[in-house]
Amino acid sequence: MTGGVASSLGKGIISASLAKLLQSRGLKVTIQKLDPYINVDPGTLNPYEHGECYVTEDGAETDLDLGHYERFINLHTTQENNVTTGRIYQTVINKERKGDYLGKTVQVIPHITDEIKRRIKLLGKKSNYDVVITEIGGTVGDIESLPYVEAVRQLKWDLGAQNSMVIHLTLVPYLAASGELKTKPTQHSVKVLLENGIQPDVIVLRTEHPLNQDIRKKVAQFCNVDSDSVVQSIDVSTIYEVPLLMKEEQLDLTAMRKLDLKVSKEPNLKEWTAFVEKLKNPKKEVTIGLVGKYVELPDSYKSIMESLVHAGAVNQVKVKIESVHSEVIKVQNVADKLKGLQGILVAPGFGQRGIEGKIEAVKYARENNIPFLGICLGMQCAVIEFARNVLGFEDADSAEMSRTTKHPVIDLMEEQKGVTEKGGTMRLGAYPCEITKSSNVYKVYGKNEIQERHRHRYEFNNAYLEDFKEAGLQPVGINPDTELVEIVEIPEHRWFVGVQFHPEYKSTVVNPHPLFVGFVKEIAEGK
Ligand code: GLN
Repeated sequence: MTGGVASSLGKGIISASLAKLLQSRGLKVTIQKLDPYINVDPGTLNPYEHGECYVTEDGAETDLDLGHYERFINLHTTQENNVTTGRIYQTVINKERKGDYLGKTVQVIPHITDEIKRRIKLLGKKSNYDVVITEIGGTVGDIESLPYVEAVRQLKWDLGAQNSMVIHLTLVPYLAASGELKTKPTQHSVKVLLENGIQPDVIVLRTEHPLNQDIRKKVAQFCNVDSDSVVQSIDVSTIYEVPLLMKEEQLDLTAMRKLDLKVSKEPNLKEWTAFVEKLKNPKKEVTIGLVGKYVELPDSYKSIMESLVHAGAVNQVKVKIESVHSEVIKVQNVADKLKGLQGILVAPGFGQRGIEGKIEAVKYARENNIPFLGICLGMQCAVIEFARNVLGFEDADSAEMSRTTKHPVIDLMEEQKGVTEKGGTMRLGAYPCEITKSSNVYKVYGKNEIQERHRHRYEFNNAYLEDFKEAGLQPVGINPDTELVEIVEIPEHRWFVGVQFHPEYKSTVVNPHPLFVGFVKEIAEGK
């Protein structure tokens, strides 16, 4: 899957939709993202750069598109599903140092392109997938994308015509002044691909207005494809409708024909359609405040937002998310800033900026009995707030924010103490947690053994465990191997839960996450 004309056209959603359709016909499918930047992974990137960093079960810090893949196909992705230019070069350079290429000049072609091809093929071999969809980040024509495009060109020959295909996604802009849809950018984009030796098999056209037969024919003619290989991707109100639209456009059938996949089964999209129906027909609306410091870019909290969408659909309520910048929340204005919110979610994050606003938001939710969910840093803020205002430790803080506090209620994990490198060194991926059976979160999960994904360096400081318990902030989820506190709740409160892990990474259309479902349910049905 390649893209042209503009970025952000939705390659990830189209890839995930095609994967969903093929999967619903009984095929084993996965999706992979190749990112042409030099960071080894997106873990070191500020969310303002590329949106949230998505974490997989095996602890890989990845591009947010992997979140879409998991939400659509309901399967775990892994480290192999996201590869960056940095990782490719790192592998090749390490091999060079080892002497694997002894005597040879190491070059972009063939060494880098070979490594790209190896990474694409590896995934298919490792887990025996019928289809691997590989999404190439960026747009064709970018300098960074060239080795990837070349690898795709070669791979088409290596795999053979019926074992590979290229889908190219472009934009058909609408000129309001003349009332016309324009195909020229698409023609140019396909020309770039052709110059690089790739004839796309299918062209997906992103558009704001329906494309008529003439436009489809024109694109087919100018871009060398048959007319049923021109697919319309029209703007819709929810991304979850895209698989249904792609089915109407028969993208799955076209792909199966090109790949010579003989599947007689009709796609089973019952569950999916029911979800979209519920999503589009809410019975009421609730407003939840998302308190974070990256709220200017909604992609920074992509998985949280989607989890709330899933939870809304289950409860048949429309969840309106009101983003509140944590930096603007102060003691004097907190009531005003959070006015009218029926639930408050304090987001994950790193560093000092905006932390005091988050703590104020927690206090407001706790004192006013407003349903509260704190995720990772959000949970840590709940612990700090409780320590300051209930336990009376006025200077309580996280060791991340203050080195001098006498009450580091959140402290650096033992295993993190000697760590100096930033990339890939946090506590990452899935860890077990045991939930106390008498707790409220137990009712929400319906089980006491869970696995949730992590991405942090700091933790609840167990030296204060008894103080918190006595005063009413209960540790109700514990890692059975390390005794680390994973979940805290205030039983007296209507719904006050803080989790050290990231539940948002595990919410999918088929399996909406119980914590989000419970949170939204309480807001929708509670007092
Ligand atoms: N900064 C905190 C830590 O490292 C929280 C991280 C997060 O919210 N993901 O522990």
